[in-house]
Amino acid sequence: MARRRQIYEGRAKILFEGPEAGTIVQHFKDDATAFNASKQGVITGKGVLNNRISEYLMLRLHEIGVPTHFIRRLNMREQLVREVEMIPVEVVVRNIAAGTLSERFAIPEGTPLPRTILEYCFKSDELADPFVSEEHITAFEWASPQDMDDMVSMTLRVNDFLTGLFLGIGIRLVDFRLEFGRLWDADQMRIVVADEISPDSCRLWDAKTNEKMDKDRFRRDLGNVEDAYQEVARRLGILPESGPRDMQGPKVMQ
Ligand code: 5GP
Repeated sequence: MARRRQIYEGRAKILFEGPEAGTIVQHFKDDATAFNASKQGVITGKGVLNNRISEYLMLRLHEIGVPTHFIRRLNMREQLVREVEMIPVEVVVRNIAAGTLSERFAIPEGTPLPRTILEYCFKSDELADPFVSEEHITAFEWASPQDMDDMVSMTLRVNDFLTGLFLGIGIRLVDFRLEFGRLWDADQMRIVVADEISPDSCRLWDAKTNEKMDKDRFRRDLGNVEDAYQEVARRLGILPESGPRDMQGPKVMQ
């Protein structure tokens, strides 16, 4: 049997060379890390759920005209994506104070922000993804001013759309992180949403109880991590009511 060439192994995903030129297979692992990998663990079934959740959200973004790297889901843990040149910047979108924003500015978690705030991190394990400004990003040429304009307008669109989508299923989108890549078609370049959108990269709170339904359950040892991820998938309509054991085959319920 032909072996696939592994391109990269990260904390939550492995990337393999795809079957056609310009494609990549994203394999979602159950491994979880937090605080720049100083906390490590396994969330059973997380890879399967994040593969499904990210597929669903990327497809919905595609429907509203936001370009993404997603092509199609291949199996329970893998999806085919376009090969892109990753921009080494994470865009963090905040609607409600939480996490490091609450720590830095001593704002109690759960405080609604006067308006949506965007922040940027430079992707670097060595430096623990430091917060940076647009000045750093353009001066160090991680992204051009035009790239930044595209990333910001797409991010705000994604935030508006996902905020509504999640509110419709009783979930508050507190904050999230997006990554972008450059996709080349001949000599034309466009910026697309890349990586994943999942409870690993979003803060999702139950709209009624404010219960956390995301990776903070792992980061903060709150327990029931698997249940929280499953509940997000269930509310999105992509997990059969009877639970994850029914997720043996690719039966998408939409
Ligand atoms: P904070 O800065 O409060 O830790 O994170 C803000 C938001 O961005 C949270 O929703 C968090 O999940 C997401 N985020 C920030 N950095 C990362 C990262 O390195 N990986 C992932 N998956 N999400 C991140």
